Amino acid sequence: MEPLDLIHQPASDPLAENEPCSALGHHCGVAGLFSPDPLNVPERLFYMLFSLQHRGQESCGVAWEEDGRHRGYKDLGMVAPVLGRFLREERRSRLGIGHVRYSTAGGGGLQNAQPIVVDCNKGRLALAHNGNLSNGGRLRKELTAAGSIFQGTADSELVLHLISRSREGTREDFLREALAPLEGAYSLVLMHEGALVAIRDPSGFRPLYVGEKGGATYVASETCALHAVGPMPFREIAPGEVLIVDRAGSRSFFLEPRLPRRACVFELIYFARPDSEVFGESVHGARVRLGEMLAELDEAAGLRADVVVPVPDSGNIAAIGYARRAGLPFDFGLARSHYAGRSFIMPTKDQRELAARLKLHAVPEVVAGKRVVMIDDSLVRGTTSRIIVGLLREAGAKEVHLRLAAPELKWPCYYGIDIPSRDELISNRLDAAGIAREVGADSARFLPVDRLLSGLGHSQGYCSACFDGNHPFRPDVGEKEGQ
Ligand code: SF4
Repeated sequence: MEPLDLIHQPASDPLAENEPCSALGHHCGVAGLFSPDPLNVPERLFYMLFSLQHRGQESCGVAWEEDGRHRGYKDLGMVAPVLGRFLREERRSRLGIGHVRYSTAGGGGLQNAQPIVVDCNKGRLALAHNGNLSNGGRLRKELTAAGSIFQGTADSELVLHLISRSREGTREDFLREALAPLEGAYSLVLMHEGALVAIRDPSGFRPLYVGEKGGATYVASETCALHAVGPMPFREIAPGEVLIVDRAGSRSFFLEPRLPRRACVFELIYFARPDSEVFGESVHGARVRLGEMLAELDEAAGLRADVVVPVPDSGNIAAIGYARRAGLPFDFGLARSHYAGRSFIMPTKDQRELAARLKLHAVPEVVAGKRVVMIDDSLVRGTTSRIIVGLLREAGAKEVHLRLAAPELKWPCYYGIDIPSRDELISNRLDAAGIAREVGADSARFLPVDRLLSGLGHSQGYCSACFDGNHPFRPDVGEKEGQ
């Protein structure tokens, strides 16, 4: 067997190139493709990963088969600077996978960048993972005690170790055995011996889609990445489905369900791109409905207002739904500078506040003398909202009513979303009236959890644990409970 050929570019400074970022982070996005006829696979993966950039900005990478070898390229940084070289290179291949990664400070580094490419007793394997295993800590301890060696700290490596340790001979059998102990969220793409394998955990926490174009099969976290290659028919990979695509065609088998479907409702509220479909729902359509629901609650409460103003860009779509339902004008009373840096890397609170003021500006012509309904997608610490309410008041707003197109965020996520500690979440300290006082608004309103779930039409099928504490899988005791 030929050695792996894995190229690492010297680490660049990812922060220098990153976009402004919200207080929540997503852990990853994945992409893969198989074509019976050779294509420029890394180039196609570039387009797909570029469309998934919102799911992770810390590192990115691709792996593909070329002349019987696994080639790979990954680095810290955004897709365009790291993988842009593949727009200029012609690399003919039938198979490849790619990854974009987000990480909390200190949890990243090149050793955790993906795809992970290995040579083991099951042959050549490359893996990219979106999600988080809630029992990853325990599995890592057990595997380490049994002699496994890990290169990074991400739990994605666990899957490769479990595959390698399986005594089963066929791909289906060793995948069944390796995946059985996993709890939590995993949407995976693998390259194995000439096949593309796409796997979605039985609860379906994270989205995963497959489409076909020109005889090639494309897999991606969101449909926006499929559309980046061109229009194509697509379908959702079902929870628990293992899809295998190779020269023999495509076929699926299914993992044993551990729980009913638990799709992450936050994908629809905030994380997924609005032009995507996830979990069979249009993301744009879902966000419009969330805004409409908020307007219905305000109508019932008798709120009177003059204009609906979104916090750009996170509140834009819910604000459209609110304004339509309430019969109020929608207007951009807040403008966002696209040249401001990431406020959260500023070392002091004063500097972070100043950075937020540089990023957003109130438009007096829109808000002066008006009763403003200010819409955002969710509330984390409340710091930015306090600044924005202040900006609207400075610009002459008569009243400011803060509306969040999500319930109160109170609990950690163990399935792939980075949420600040419970102490930092403003909804664990204050109720809506207290939050309004703290941010300087005339009132604040959230969307109740039951309203959110019934409005989305799958009241039994979503995870809403960060809002209601109803975690489908708890982490191992002592691992992450303190978050
Ligand atoms: S806890 Fe929240 S962010 Fe995490 S999977 Fe559940 S709904 Fe999504």
